[in-house]
Amino acid sequence: SFGGCAAAVDYSYKLLYCGLIGRSWAMVFAGGGFRVKLYDIVQQQITSALEYISKYLLLEWFTLSSEVYYSCINWRISNAIYYYFLFQECTPEKLELKKKIFGQLDLIVSNDVILSSSTSTLLPTKLFTGLKHVKQCIVAHPVNPPYYVPLVELVPHPETEPSTVDKTHALMKKIGQSPVKLTKEIDGFVLNRLQYAVISEAWRLVGEGVISPADLDLVMSDGLGMRYAFIGPLETMHLNNQNPYDNYQFNLLFSLFQAMSEKTPADPEHLNARRAWRDECLMGLAKLKKQM
Ligand code: NAD
Repeated sequence: SFGGCAAAVDYSYKLLYCGLIGRSWAMVFAGGGFRVKLYDIVQQQITSALEYISKYLLLEWFTLSSEVYYSCINWRISNAIYYYFLFQECTPEKLELKKKIFGQLDLIVSNDVILSSSTSTLLPTKLFTGLKHVKQCIVAHPVNPPYYVPLVELVPHPETEPSTVDKTHALMKKIGQSPVKLTKEIDGFVLNRLQYAVISEAWRLVGEGVISPADLDLVMSDGLGMRYAFIGPLETMHLNNQNPYDNYQFNLLFSLFQAMSEKTPADPEHLNARRAWRDECLMGLAKLKKQM
């Protein structure tokens, strides 16, 4: 039972809803060694979440180092919420529903529980403004499926405490995800802003008859996408540039260059070593693509 589980632990459970994203988070958290409790208002969702998790375990694509508990309640959180240290909300993308859930949690959580939303599009100011525990609130936006695509965007509310961001960041690292911190909220966060920039240029090029739809997709899947699996656009620029200083005339570009040089100093020895690493990664990826 909920009470029994909660009494046995201190701050080691994660609480989720178990749709597509909720069940995926459950696997990732449990794989990282945390005990997880799933909640949903639909019993069938619990059943199918557990079947889904067992399927991945059977395929040996994933191992759980901890347990997943489950429960079906009609959204009546008991006082046992005090024993959780992170609540990862994964309900449908409806602002009013999410606000209602965070409003209910706000009445009962202690001052150190992290209240996290998986939302893809809703801004923290829309979700959390006015909550008593707003300092503990954050958006942790995963990419589907999180156990293969590890990026998580952490987006704070303007009143979120830096320690909430840091604790969530550390937790995500611990479970093997790749968290990035946004310093402020922005529509689309970062992943979708980049994605839609690419999509809109793709539409333009195809719309203007520059390239066929199939070839446009090949540009990404057999061109840029290969590289971007290992290095981002900024590092690509850094590694491709023969005379980096020539192009770094403006302040922003210079600070970008400095940031990139911290990772790979812009001298031939370091640049060539990093290029060799990139090429080795690409060789591995090319082999894998041939096998698929
Ligand atoms: P989903 O529809 O698969 O799952 C939602 C779950 O919430 C269902 O199991 C549903 O029964 C349950 N639910 C509905 N109302 C509830 C309530 N009042 N109390 C408790 N449970 C309730 O949705 P999803 O695709 O898992 O998306 C969940 C969230 O994750 C959304 O905010 C979405 O934007 C975000 N997200 C989704 C993806 C994706 O690719 N699907 C990726 C990143 C983030």
